[in-house]
Amino acid sequence: MTLAEMDAELIDCRACPRLVAWREQVAETKRAAFAGETYWGRPVPGFGPADASLGIVGLAPAAHGANRTGRMFTGDRSGDVLYRAMYDVGLATKPEAHHIGDGLELIGTRITSPVHCAPPANKPTPAERDTCGRWLARELELLRPTLRAIVVLGGFGWQALLPVLAAAGWEVPRPRPKFGHGVQYVLDGPTELRLFGCFHVSQQNTFTGRLTPAMVREVLTTAKTAAGI
Ligand code: SF4
Repeated sequence: MTLAEMDAELIDCRACPRLVAWREQVAETKRAAFAGETYWGRPVPGFGPADASLGIVGLAPAAHGANRTGRMFTGDRSGDVLYRAMYDVGLATKPEAHHIGDGLELIGTRITSPVHCAPPANKPTPAERDTCGRWLARELELLRPTLRAIVVLGGFGWQALLPVLAAAGWEVPRPRPKFGHGVQYVLDGPTELRLFGCFHVSQQNTFTGRLTPAMVREVLTTAKTAAGI
């Protein structure tokens, strides 16, 4: 199976009733500013080349961002910060993301999330995280031949990713490595994999100054080098 084939399956997934109901309700009711648009309203697949050597793992699609546009981090403030930083360090061809077909391409990098459907209040349940983990496991398995480094945006993604990596054969130490901004770990396993922690690019962090553009660029630059890009 290819990543494209997996994504084609993923966008039809209805395994989490609460999230299916929410993503579709949001797509139906819309935000006033986007009233004229047709929302995606389905699971949002990963974005980036199938031979990526760097992964970026977030949390879940935003209700009026990726759940609207159908592409990771596209159409919301979090994406504005992330794509600007990716462009600045040479991981994206454009500094902004608007919609599928806007010409934006990622360089050696694939962005994905442990939960592929927009959750109410941006908070998936542990059960939903575990259910969607099977998609993350399949995606990592398909990326494994080229994957060298992963940047994890936030503690939720970190907690979701480590068990998936362990199940896929990477040696995740016990106790498990702790999340923090700027932390780095090297995991042995099917390939040597470098993990990097970065605060999530959400407005909660960027509007308060907890996370600055320079901090994002610094993590991405280090991870880019580790991934050989
Ligand atoms: Fe399927 Fe994941 Fe969406 Fe749940 S969150 S319905 S597992 S794609």
